[in-house]
This record gives sequence, C-alpha cells and structure tokens, in this order.
Amino acid sequence: MNTNRRQFIKLSAFATSLFAFNKSKASEVITNASKEQIKPIVISTWRFGVEANAEAWKILSNKGRALDAVEAGVKIPEADPKERSVGYGGRPDRDGRVTLDACIMDDYANIGSVGCLEHIVHPISVARAVMEKTPHTMLVGEGALDFALSQGFKKENLLVKESEEEWKEWLKTSKYKPIANIENHDTIGMVALDMNGNLSGACTTSGMAFKMHGRIGDSPIIGAGLFVDNEVGAATATGHGEEVMRIVGSHTVVELMRQGLAPEEACRKAVERIISIAKRKNKPLDELQIGFIAINKKGGHGAYCLQKGFNYAVYSPEINNQLIDAKHIL
Ligand code: ASP
Repeated sequence: MNTNRRQFIKLSAFATSLFAFNKSKASEVITNASKEQIKPIVISTWRFGVEANAEAWKILSNKGRALDAVEAGVKIPEADPKERSVGYGGRPDRDGRVTLDACIMDDYANIGSVGCLEHIVHPISVARAVMEKTPHTMLVGEGALDFALSQGFKKENLLVKESEEEWKEWLKTSKYKPIANIENHDTIGMVALDMNGNLSGACTTSGMAFKMHGRIGDSPIIGAGLFVDNEVGAATATGHGEEVMRIVGSHTVVELMRQGLAPEEACRKAVERIISIAKRKNKPLDELQIGFIAINKKGGHGAYCLQKGFNYAVYSPEINNQLIDAKHIL
C-alpha cells in the first residue's frame, strides 16, 4: 500500500468516527429538546395583530416554520383595504402614490426587504423573494416593482376611495404632521418562535401618510424595524420611523436581551434611549409615539411604548390571542 493510500484510509476512518460522534451528540440534543417541549408563540403590533396572529398560529400549531407563520400572518392586514396603514388600502404619499415598505428575517439571519414598492398587495412576499431568489438583501422603487413582476406578482391599484379622498382633503393644507396614536401611520410587525425553537420576524407598512415621495421609514430596515437573532430573541417596532432608525431600535432591543434583560425591560430601555435623544434635540415628546415588542428564545414576551395607546397581540398556548396594552413611559 503506498503512503498516500494509507493516509487516505486513516483520514476516512477518522472522519467516520467524527461523524458518529457528531451524530450521537445531535441525537442527544434532540432528545433533550423534546423532553423539555418548546412552546410556540407569536406576537404582533396593534389590534390588527389579532387576526394576523390567528393566521400565523395555524402554521405554528402544526409544527410549521416561524418564517412561514410570520409571512402568512402579516399578509392578512396587507390584503385588507380597511387597514389604512398597511398594504392594499394604505394611505398614499403627498403625490397620491401608495408606497410600501417591508422586511423579513429568519433563523439563519437570512434577510430580505423592499422599500417604496408600488402596486403590489403583498410586499412581505416580495421581500421574502428578494431574500430567497436574489444575491441581494434590499430592492427599492422601480427595481423592486420590476423584480416583483418578474416573479409573477400582479400589478394592482392600491389606492382605495377613502384614502384618495383623505389625500385630496390633505392637499388643501398640505401640512405634514404624523400624529401619535392617530392612525395616519402604523405598521404590523410580527415575531414568532416555532416548535423547533426557531425565531423569525416580518414587518410591513405603507409608512407615514402623506410622506415625501421616496421616503422610506424604519420598517424595511433590518435592525431598525425588525431584528432576529436565533440565539437570543426577536424584536420589531412601530411608530415614528425616523426616531427608530436613529437608534437602530429593534437590534438594540435584541442586544439588550442578549445582555440578560427580559423582553419588556429591553423594550423600555430602547424607548428611553429615543426619549433622551429627542430631549437633546428639543423635540416635543407628546408628538411622538414609538412602540417595541419582543420575544426571547425561551418564549418570554414584552413590549413598551413612549406614550399611552399602543397595544400588541399575543398568541401562545397560555394566552389565547389577546390584545395587551403596552406599558408606557410618559
Ligand atoms: N414605523 C412606520 C414608519 O415610520 C410607521 C408606523 O409604524 O407608525 O413608516
């Protein structure tokens, strides 16, 4: 036997034993995990989160993937013309154009997002297609629309009569003034833990009503509107996107959980950071609303907002899809 062949046999024997070792380790992990059953949970922002959670729960309770659950969940308000801050029916920008922002993130830190996307009812699914079918992570404007059409999404008119009338009324004064808790803006952000112990999140909105054309908020920005770390937890945001972006809000919440904070405490600290920046800039706080929601790897959940009026929906084996008022600082 020549030296090369001898070395090859030695190496393959080593590889086989290593494989056997890893295999036994893996089954040990699986057995331990199944002993201590993982309880799924899904939470999402605002009252439209209730219906969205119900859809996501169908997937989670059937041992489906958190990624599929969050996409299916947020598609409910996206398709609902009565929800005037998300998807179809969303309020337009100051030029009368409905432009949508969305992003998605999974347990492998795969990310996809779209910004300022027009004419597509489900921007979240386009974001997922960006994640899964392109070498990129974010597409915006016309490029995002071209990509969506190439993937078979249908081009539709998203401006409903009510939104058009509101916009025409707005044109009389043309005063841009997002109001806290008044629904001229809102976002559905959803984060979930599945039965395999994996996390994912989705976030989608039509953004601030009557924004400048081309304005993109926090919602499609990974780290700002949404962040998932499968080792730690997941968080998402709603409210004045410009302020959330300033502190990369959802990433901040997850990093605070990594340092050991419970989800509620982590959300509170992130809101406090926004408040201290606003104070430094002499920004009137009563005009601002920010809400964060978060879950951790153990299925704990929590939220915090700047001022009264923000709620979130929780669905878990213990909490049967209830709307909970988030604690507030002001
Ligand atoms: N965060 C969204 C944005 O700034 C709006 C909202 O959630 O209220 O576009």
